Amino acid sequence: MPLYIIRQDITKLECDAIVNAANNTLLGGGGVDGAIHKAAGAELLEECKRLGGCDTGEAKITKAYNLPCKHVIHTVGPIWQGGEKGEKALLESCYKKSLSLAKENGCESVAFPLISAGVYGYPKDKALAVAAESISEFLFKNEMTVYIVVFDKASYQISEELFDDVQEYIDDNYVDDNYVDDNYADENYVDDNYADENGYYLERSGEVCCRRVPIFKESDYDLFGCFEEKIEEPTEDLSLLDMLSKIDDNFAVTLLKLIDIKGMSDVECYKKANVSKQTWYKIMNEKEYKPSKNTVISFAIALELSLEEAKRLLSTVGFTLSKSSKFDIIIEYFLLKEEYNIFIINETLFKFDQVCLGV
Ligand code: ADP
Repeated sequence: MPLYIIRQDITKLECDAIVNAANNTLLGGGGVDGAIHKAAGAELLEECKRLGGCDTGEAKITKAYNLPCKHVIHTVGPIWQGGEKGEKALLESCYKKSLSLAKENGCESVAFPLISAGVYGYPKDKALAVAAESISEFLFKNEMTVYIVVFDKASYQISEELFDDVQEYIDDNYVDDNYVDDNYADENYVDDNYADENGYYLERSGEVCCRRVPIFKESDYDLFGCFEEKIEEPTEDLSLLDMLSKIDDNFAVTLLKLIDIKGMSDVECYKKANVSKQTWYKIMNEKEYKPSKNTVISFAIALELSLEEAKRLLSTVGFTLSKSSKFDIIIEYFLLKEEYNIFIINETLFKFDQVCLGV
């Protein structure tokens, strides 16, 4: 079952367990701890008093009293001291211990705040990365729905570098559907001003869509000065592209073939795609089931397809990637970068107010 990043007040969630970023005394504090105790009522504090505190990196479970969830798992995150004092291992331990407690107690859904990322000062982007990695590692071996709850958007950060890079990519590639630039009336028109730092320019075809192709160099012309058409050299695995272009199988069959080619197991693939078991069963068993574009992209990421391969997979279900959709451009960015960590992609989509993958 998948991992979701949601923006919510954790005390309002109706899942089996919510996790509290507690302190060693377990007797309440500020931040999310204060909010949980306030919403749960005095009985929670009474039960916590009987627990005898909790070590950093450990977790303990209580009932949830007036909260809409069933349990509260209290874990104590490390205080950030610069990163050299074993903070990462302790934070990972918080997630692991909390998740195994949840499992032992039969929880099917668990929500975490960003442990240590408040008063304890763990840098938020690093805290989020540890959360996503630890939870996804657990989800590879276990069935559970896990939420990372981000309270306010300001407190949520992907690394500045990634944010700027994606923003730049969107700015360079986003095409407003209603915008028509007369300079591009001629589909062969080439303007070097539009070259990017990699020597690529945005080619505009008859439609408004753009395609990135290499800028022409002198060497692209033959002896007679005629342009020698250079078909973009596919760097990707030709056999896979071939297979995808010939395919007239339905999506399920295509998917199974790709899973085979990539040497993955079915479970590995749908888990990596952050797709639920139910969705997987629907794809495999319901003949008329048409997966959403989001689901197809999730599988393309899980299968580590190149941009071209992903587009072909999408086309088997009648979808395409558009230049007038921020979501699509962000996906294209990651496919081009060959960054296939679905949680990093989801964090980025979330930051740009887009729907996450696999949801
Ligand atoms: P810590 O002491 O472990 O740093 P904090 O409670 O100070 O714990 O902060 C942990 C994270 O929880 C912070 O990112 C904070 O923004 C967030 N947070 C605070 N209140 C809530 C809430 N009601 N729901 C979800 N997250 C919350």
